[in-house]
Amino acid sequence: MKNFLNSIPHKFTPEQEKLLFKAFEFAKKAHEGQFRKNGENYFIHPSGAAIILGQFFPDTSTLAATLLHDVPEDTKVTLKAIEAEFGPEIARLIDGVTQLGHVRMKNSKDKFYVENLRKLFIATSQDIRVILIKLADRMHNMRTIEFIPVEKQLKVAKETLEIYAPIAGRLGIGAWKDELEDLSFKIVYPKEYEETKKLLDEELKNREESLKEIEKSLTHILRTEGIKFLSITGRVKRLYSLFRKLEKYDNDVTKIHDIVALRIINKSTADCYAALGIIHKYFQPLPGRIKDYIATPKPNGYQSIHTTVFSKEGKTFEIQLRTDLMDEEAERGVAAHWFYAEEGKPETSNRLQAKWIKELQSWQEETSNPEEFLESLKIDFFRDRIFVFTPKGDIKDLPAGASVIDFAFAVHTDLGFHMMGAKINGKMASIYDELRQGDMIEIIKIKKESVMSRHWLEAAKTHNARNRIRRYMNEHNKGVFDRIKELKLKDFTLPKFFRKK
Ligand code: MN
Repeated sequence: MKNFLNSIPHKFTPEQEKLLFKAFEFAKKAHEGQFRKNGENYFIHPSGAAIILGQFFPDTSTLAATLLHDVPEDTKVTLKAIEAEFGPEIARLIDGVTQLGHVRMKNSKDKFYVENLRKLFIATSQDIRVILIKLADRMHNMRTIEFIPVEKQLKVAKETLEIYAPIAGRLGIGAWKDELEDLSFKIVYPKEYEETKKLLDEELKNREESLKEIEKSLTHILRTEGIKFLSITGRVKRLYSLFRKLEKYDNDVTKIHDIVALRIINKSTADCYAALGIIHKYFQPLPGRIKDYIATPKPNGYQSIHTTVFSKEGKTFEIQLRTDLMDEEAERGVAAHWFYAEEGKPETSNRLQAKWIKELQSWQEETSNPEEFLESLKIDFFRDRIFVFTPKGDIKDLPAGASVIDFAFAVHTDLGFHMMGAKINGKMASIYDELRQGDMIEIIKIKKESVMSRHWLEAAKTHNARNRIRRYMNEHNKGVFDRIKELKLKDFTLPKFFRKK
């Protein structure tokens, strides 16, 4: 426990320490007798994940939940027992993590797998801490992947590359994204990994000398021109990101200008721009290669100025300029925001949640089809969503308060038009019943088209279902009206007086 606390760079209050100690001992005891493949105690895993998370996000409840995250699933101790000991907040976090795990297994062979997982992450995003725990869990599994059974390694690594690394990137946690990518790259594409590594090593050897020189002259120039800066460091492009870039540029390494870059950390944004001006005075910039992510940050919040310049030998180098705060945020992303806010004023966490939802929104914008996205924006916002399952394990996300009727229409219009009843989690239910987070719903179909009434409209919460029902009712009513009109006309003859001559 002492070691555990020492590995987290944060000063906890005695009360917080007490809670962490309790969670530590509780989880350790629950996992007793369980071992990892290398014979280590299983508890190494949850405590390792908590240490990883603690580097960026030393929030006590979240760390306690991380220590306990595999207890309900892998031991005899139930979630209820955890809730009794640690309260609803920690139990809810653990429950969220467990739910994410379930879906992964259910849908691993499904072609909508990636899409479903993305949806699920959004659905659980009500509490971003669940995602942070899941990412730390995955980080530890990837760092110790040799202790996972060989037949599972490829699956885990693929999933990491397709789901977890992009999510870490999306949240702006650059350090985790980079590491997750490179660790899985090695397993998913071993041959390409070796080739890229060889290529990078050669490039570095070629550039080492001139890199040092340029660093020296940059330091000199900035000092003589009176530009304040905190540090200049060299950064080498990560293997997986180099591999992806090479793919884009027909494997032509000369077209890639940021294999090595010099990163200048400044105190203020003004210093960044001042330094940029000076650098361009002394080094010829490559036209069209200046990217100002300070003025226009990337969607995940990344801020920096990038420019590519020529060295004396005519080699190109990328130079990145940012403040120390921007640098910190590029590493820790959303975790940095959240934690600083929590430490400062508690009311800012609402603003962060709003920011987070906005981030998810732009993510949604990038990935799903525009009509679907627009519709989801209009009616039902992310924060009030529930996710439920089809009998096959597909996920449907619906607004809170949605009923069986909404679910049926979300699965298929035809299913909405031909339903008689439903089973929720295996029990008979009414089509008007409200759904709850995690429900599994089976619709009981009939051949005949169902008769929709105003009750249907009252129970439906989604635009889709409501529109379908309204349209049905309009058509249906129109049919009746027309028939009445027809009947009337047939039996009704206008008095002579009104007849045309
Ligand atoms: Mn785990």
